[in-house]
Amino acid sequence: MKFIVDLPLAGLAKWLRFCGFDAAVQRLSPGAPQDLPPALADTYLLTRQQDFTRFKREDLLVLSAPDPEGQLQEVIRRLEITRGHLRLLSRCGQCNEILVSISRDQALGLVPEHVFHTQEQFHQCPKCRQVFWPGSHLPGILAKVLEKLD
Ligand SMILES: [Zn+2]
Repeated sequence: MKFIVDLPLAGLAKWLRFCGFDAAVQRLSPGAPQDLPPALADTYLLTRQQDFTRFKREDLLVLSAPDPEGQLQEVIRRLEITRGHLRLLSRCGQCNEILVSISRDQALGLVPEHVFHTQEQFHQCPKCRQVFWPGSHLPGILAKVLEKLD
């Protein structure tokens, strides 16, 4: 499952990436149908612009929640996303790049000392070089949303 997320929903895009989904951010214009990205298999367009409801495209989700938490819950409900769809710690929230696994030695100096001593698994974004470890990337509020998944 992939997403093209309207620019004002960049916060939601970050959360989708934390969940492991490919989420590109792009400004979507409701001017005319031909201005929208073409429909692609397993790819959904996400926006909050109510003007989009007239397009009647099955891949277009017009969300109503004002905050990323509510928006993610709408996406989860409407696309019937389950725990099995998630790939936590697989994608950089900032860059949308796939993380690569690095050794503990490689993480030395790149993570806080207590993290280095307590964690075994480290992943790095090939673009921004940020290092992640289990739980590091999940804001508490997102973890709560995911806890409720089947
Ligand atoms: Zn990155």
